[in-house]
Amino acid sequence: MIPPSSDKHGSKGLLLIISGPSGVGKGTVCRRLMEIKKNLELSVSTTTRPPRAGEVEGREYNFTAREQFQELIDKGRFLEWAEVHGQYYGTRLDRVDQALNSGSDLILEIDTQGAEQVRAKIPDAVSIFLAPPSFPELEERIKGRGTEDRERIIGRLKVARKEMEAYCHYNYVVVNDRVDQAAELIAAIIDVEKCRVDRGAKPPGWGGGNR
Ligand code: ADP
Ligand code: 5GP
Repeated sequence: MIPPSSDKHGSKGLLLIISGPSGVGKGTVCRRLMEIKKNLELSVSTTTRPPRAGEVEGREYNFTAREQFQELIDKGRFLEWAEVHGQYYGTRLDRVDQALNSGSDLILEIDTQGAEQVRAKIPDAVSIFLAPPSFPELEERIKGRGTEDRERIIGRLKVARKEMEAYCHYNYVVVNDRVDQAAELIAAIIDVEKCRVDRGAKPPGWGGGNR
């Protein structure tokens, strides 16, 4: 397939936001998506949450103390940050700039509060809300993951109901029924977004202007 060319953003990558309730499968779908789309990077957030078993510093997150997180806020180092489930999470501005300027597409896997901040600052970011097929299925997934105790599961499910209401602020809703299907649909969204004329797509060899 020959893609349309674009000079509106030079060779800048596409910024993609993926949100959805805890346990819906954001991490799982994003991992599959990274296998399908080679020019895609996953942003590594900074968090005060302690690492779960198997999580590695710098791979899933940059784990940090609250004082250091506050210092980064004060210095204006975050594109967005939010308190989620009693912990702080944020996206470093320098990392986003670096990825997009190198021409890579970048996924931010962030909560609905963070998504709102990014949309306000970067209106051409593409936002996708990943939804569960049903609430009972979401509950099964959170429990099945086995990373939270009972109290935290109840807390996350409570927050999930509120997060679901935010879907209407996103550009796309994708239901994560089957991981492969959801990842392929998001890959298709990326392809379609790159064909948009209002993003600067044009026929190959076309110099520009309204001819
Ligand atoms: P999130 O990153 O949104 O919190 P995870 O990716 O950790 O969610 O997934 C939560 C649990 O649900 C994991 O155990 C994962 O294997 C499972 N899961 C993810 N997507 C699906 C799916 N489409 N069908 C069944 N189980 C899924
Ligand atoms: P978890 O603790 O399960 O890894 O993540 C909990 C929630 O925090 C998820 O909804 C996830 O999307 C969100 N999250 C992860 N990183 C960021 C971030 O950098 N910013 C914001 N606003 N939310 C984040």
